[in-house]
Amino acid sequence: MAKAHSEKQALLRCADGTIKQKNLLTGTEVWTVPGRGHRPLAIPTQDDSPVDHSRHGHYCAFCHFRYFETPPEKARVIFDEDTGWKTLEHVPASQLYSTTAEFRRIPNLFEIVSYNYWNLNYGHVPSAEDSQRMARYLADPAGFEHVMRVVRARLAASGLSAEELADMPDGALLPHATGFFSGGHDVIIAKNHYIPDAENKSQLASSGTLSADAHFQYMQFTAQTMQDLYQLNEHVKYVACFQNWLKPAGASFDHLHKQAVAIDETPVQIEAELERLRIDREIYDGIISLAATRKLLLAQNEHAVALAGIGHRFPSIAIWPLGPAYNPWEATPEQMRGVSDLVHAMHAATGAEVPCNEEWYHRPPSVASPMRWRLLIKWRISTLAGFEGGTRIYLNTINPWQVRDRVLPKLYELREAGLIAPMQLGDECRITPKDLR
Ligand SMILES: [Zn+2]
Repeated sequence: MAKAHSEKQALLRCADGTIKQKNLLTGTEVWTVPGRGHRPLAIPTQDDSPVDHSRHGHYCAFCHFRYFETPPEKARVIFDEDTGWKTLEHVPASQLYSTTAEFRRIPNLFEIVSYNYWNLNYGHVPSAEDSQRMARYLADPAGFEHVMRVVRARLAASGLSAEELADMPDGALLPHATGFFSGGHDVIIAKNHYIPDAENKSQLASSGTLSADAHFQYMQFTAQTMQDLYQLNEHVKYVACFQNWLKPAGASFDHLHKQAVAIDETPVQIEAELERLRIDREIYDGIISLAATRKLLLAQNEHAVALAGIGHRFPSIAIWPLGPAYNPWEATPEQMRGVSDLVHAMHAATGAEVPCNEEWYHRPPSVASPMRWRLLIKWRISTLAGFEGGTRIYLNTINPWQVRDRVLPKLYELREAGLIAPMQLGDECRITPKDLR
């Protein structure tokens, strides 16, 4: 009885049309006030000047003819018509251009949690394997030159003058490279900056413009990166994983990439969810029933369901893997493909012009809990105002049904055109809490 009551409170339509949402996992309170949601999506103006194709592969530092401007690569995924998809690890500098990476995993040049943080606070040092890898990379003259170039660029960005840098001998520069081989913040970068044959600069290659096959590789590669970063040292409590798409969503480049960051704490948000789950193990059932009964299901396949998110500060789409809970790197290829197909479709339906964050939530491996992996795509299109700061009640200009009404027609179109994988859409979805068992 009490549970039904709380689910009812989670999504209320008031007499005047105000929609009040309460997030069942975080308690976040969000209102959508009538009248404000009819405004068109506040999408930032796009640059539609022509693409200069002579700069192909050079548009930004993440582009594929600028491999030497980013730190030494940890791994890449390549594609060949004959042999299919393959992962190559630790490609030496002299061979970086022997293949073209569809996706590459590199250390972030400007880490959120740095090698120094791990080193000074925990005594973290490179493993024997990391040290060997670093020695091998530097033994190749092209590798040595690459590393020095990137170290200088980083020091210059941190404020060192050209004279100061010129005065530093190689021996003084080298220690700054250790983090490239033993750090905990990686970036997974897709190959293309623009879609093939793009005419203008608004035609960026996004998650939604990848093929469903390529998107699956991107997700799988990201999950492997997370698993790997958990092995960094025994003090890693969580690996945060996210994608910032376009500048309003926090991206430094308009070039598709995800990030994975090892941290030494369980994030507050995850702690809060673990605590709620300790009290109520059926909290996820409530979210799924609520979405199903209030007609907020967007799409589903055998392995996952996508729904318009309830109780988020930004208009959101949530993708929930089905079946027993598992973490991303534990997914079978079929499970990952199912989840990926929905994530891909939701990005395609959202549109590359919408700035968004993709956030992965998962159970910290050291904690026993029924916490479930899922992904949230947040459209970063509304601006927060003073009202929110003073009340901690958030105004979201678009309610979950408006998210559904914007996304569903596009999903039907995309499915019809064969641009997304086969899946059930809208009313075709049949989901019950049993599908989470
Ligand atoms: Zn680029």
